[in-house]
Amino acid sequence: MPMNLEVPKKFLPLVGQAHQVAEEIFRPVSRKYDQEEHAYPRELDMLAALLDGMNDGSDMGGGAGAGGVRRQEQSDEIRNGSNMSTALGIVELCWGDVGLLLSMPRQGLGNSAIASVANDEQLKRFDGKWAAMAITEPEAGSDSAAIRTTAEYDERTGEYILNGEKIYVTSGERADLVVVWATLDRSLGRAAIKSFVVERSNPGMKLDRLEHKLGIRASDTAAFILDDCRVPRENLLGSPEVDVKRGFAGVMQTFDNTRPLVAAMAVGLTRACLEQTQELLAEAGVEVDYDKPAQSQSAAAAEYLAMEADFEAARLLTMQATWMADNSKPNSLHASYAKAKAGRTCVDVALRCVRLCGSRGFGEELLLEKWARDGKILDIFEGTQQIQLLIIARQLLGKSSAELR
Ligand SMILES: Cc1cc2nc3c(=O)[nH]c(=O)nc-3n(C[C@H](O)[C@H](O)[C@H](O)COP(=O)(O)OP(=O)(O)OC[C@H]3O[C@@H](n4cnc5c(N)ncnc54)[C@H](O)[C@@H]3O)c2cc1C
Repeated sequence: MPMNLEVPKKFLPLVGQAHQVAEEIFRPVSRKYDQEEHAYPRELDMLAALLDGMNDGSDMGGGAGAGGVRRQEQSDEIRNGSNMSTALGIVELCWGDVGLLLSMPRQGLGNSAIASVANDEQLKRFDGKWAAMAITEPEAGSDSAAIRTTAEYDERTGEYILNGEKIYVTSGERADLVVVWATLDRSLGRAAIKSFVVERSNPGMKLDRLEHKLGIRASDTAAFILDDCRVPRENLLGSPEVDVKRGFAGVMQTFDNTRPLVAAMAVGLTRACLEQTQELLAEAGVEVDYDKPAQSQSAAAAEYLAMEADFEAARLLTMQATWMADNSKPNSLHASYAKAKAGRTCVDVALRCVRLCGSRGFGEELLLEKWARDGKILDIFEGTQQIQLLIIARQLLGKSSAELR
């Protein structure tokens, strides 16, 4: 099936609007919220209302946040849908500021999880809410199958009782809901892991602390204790049955939708670094010539061209992964290709840009030094670089997670 590499025409207005938001709202307050860690970016409230309007009025469902990545029924018609439009919006917003994108109300990764796996009733009930995602625990990071948080069903009340500890929950303090991964029975392994939607106001979910971080300081990162946290049965996402044959498939499906979005964040940040660097190089008299071979240009121009090539590869892999999701094609492998390439490119390019720009790249007068700090997380959360490579290797070699770990 042919894939057109241009941005679909119907998404151009969304891309333009998201870029305007990034330029006029995000960038001017970017430094402020980097310095005032944990302060809530008020500017985003107005913006979120605007986005809701944009999303309601669009036939693509997605909009510029992370909330609309629902899979549609398979059809013969090729479509560019909400996965792609969401990614395109995210690229632009992260050209502005990754931490602020992550702080946008109602656009959390928990919203993507709900959009990906909720049934229609749940989708309606949780509509308009802001949802964070809580998988990671002190003893379970990359190996998400090792989680220890338990969910015990109380037949008397029809509730699940959650107990455990969750750390590094993006938007955990500010969100309305937290999608929590817990196991129904540890002895049954990964098949017993289910996700539960927990109201932030639930007294059984106690905020323990907020983390101080290297980058994305505008985004709050929370740790929680779940202490006999009672959740209505209707808040379990997907099937309550433990299907040992299907294993992890239910909860893991979310990653096929969210990894391309994190890749899109990296693409946006990479482009910001490249544009800033090209400007500074031009000021220093280094013009990049696209018609001449790299080796016949200055070392700085040649390095710039190599970084741009990496950027293009990351961008195209990201778009491919979203396009496959929109067209109901299995995209786990491609989601990992995109995440691995875009995450690594973003960290690599940002640091090389800082170096190419010399002391100006390292100073706080520009945002480049901040982007170099912000970028690192994009190669960590939703699966680190090493984990993406592991997933890719397993798929290419036909090995199970037990065979290649
Ligand atoms: C700012 C921030 C926000 C986050 N937001 C969220 C969130 O919203 N929700 C959530 O659930 N989690 C979130 N996380 C957690 C994040 O997903 C984890 O940090 C990540 O999955 C890695 O887990 P870990 O930190 O426990 O590292 P570990 O799993 O302990 O890994 C440490 C190192 O070992 C490497 N490694 C691990 N296993 C292997 C292997 N088999 N082969 C080769 N190398 C390996 C890793 O790549 C890494 O470099 C966030 C983290 C941060 C820092």
